[in-house]
Amino acid sequence: MKSFVLIGLSRHRIGVDGAGVTTLVAFHGCPLRCKYCLNPKALYLNGVWKRFIPEELYNHVKQDDLYFRATSGGVTFGGGEPLLSCKEILHFHKICRDNGHQWKINIETSLNVPLIFVEMLEGIVDHWIVDIKDMNPEIYKAYTGADNRQVIENLQHLIDNKASVTVRVPLIPSFNTEADVEHSIAILKKMGVRDIDRFTYIIRN
Ligand code: SF4
Repeated sequence: MKSFVLIGLSRHRIGVDGAGVTTLVAFHGCPLRCKYCLNPKALYLNGVWKRFIPEELYNHVKQDDLYFRATSGGVTFGGGEPLLSCKEILHFHKICRDNGHQWKINIETSLNVPLIFVEMLEGIVDHWIVDIKDMNPEIYKAYTGADNRQVIENLQHLIDNKASVTVRVPLIPSFNTEADVEHSIAILKKMGVRDIDRFTYIIRN
């Protein structure tokens, strides 16, 4: 059985990555190479913190069941890129439901993965938090090293299917400007995105 390969796990989070109290489960591995990577441990082999089979992760997470139930909270999968581990997340969700838990499932993602990975999880995800970087393909490529066509296709798919989505639009020092951020927001609104979180990356040298 495949395990969860993680860079970290953070309990008792409030208001940062989903409704209620959440536990953040951060995966190792990411298809992007952002110039100011927020979680560099996700990119390097020696960044692996722990490996859990889904049952082990469930046993670890369930200690906060009372908090989750009291606040309609749950588990947020981030990283790295959690959508590279869809099967493990599905397995974890099944264990939760088999044990009678209705914890919320949130995904924090770049969405730069094949559409099939999004489709595999959309039936069990309560909320998607999408780090869009910038909608301009050239800025996106300069910052991440990758193309953003798949990101836009996946986001449109989620919007068309009425998923609950927050899109995070950062001002990235030396890569985009306030005008670029405005431009990204205008495109996102046209696509039908309602919840947009605008912020600035703080770069520490
Ligand atoms: S998407 Fe996140 S983990 Fe991946 S390279 Fe960018 S900042 Fe790092």
